[in-house]
Amino acid sequence: AQSEKEAALAAIPVDGDAPTIFDKIINKEIPSTIVYEDDKVLAFRDISPQGPTHILVIPKVRDGLTGLSKAEERHVEILGRLLYVAKLVAKQEKLDDGYRVVINDGKNGCQSVYHIHVHVIGGRQMNWPPG
Ligand code: AMP
Repeated sequence: AQSEKEAALAAIPVDGDAPTIFDKIINKEIPSTIVYEDDKVLAFRDISPQGPTHILVIPKVRDGLTGLSKAEERHVEILGRLLYVAKLVAKQEKLDDGYRVVINDGKNGCQSVYHIHVHVIGGRQMNWPPG
């Protein structure tokens, strides 16, 4: 099986407008376990969980936000909303002893899907620094 790092290195986008697997999740063309949805944001369980709880929080409309490094002033509201929904799902998942929130960006950040997403990982003791 391909490691997370190999997937990330293989996924560097040539076309910032190319669809990603997350479009299919948003359009419900492929199955996912959705844990939160509103008109702007979707949260669903990661298919390869790195802890007892691992949820991805994404904007329904990408609007050029393939990754955090592409953020512009117009994205400020959705960026705030993604973090707020991260908190809501952490509460919903009863991660009352804490949790990790991560945004991987680009090659060195091991990003593998070029549609911005916030990881919420919890249910176990995390380590620092991350790998
Ligand atoms: P990143 O490496 O930060 O770009 O994170 C992408 C995440 O998407 C990884 O943790 C993958 O396990 C996850 N992922 C990829 N495909 C799916 C899918 N179909 N459903 C749920 N999670 C997925």
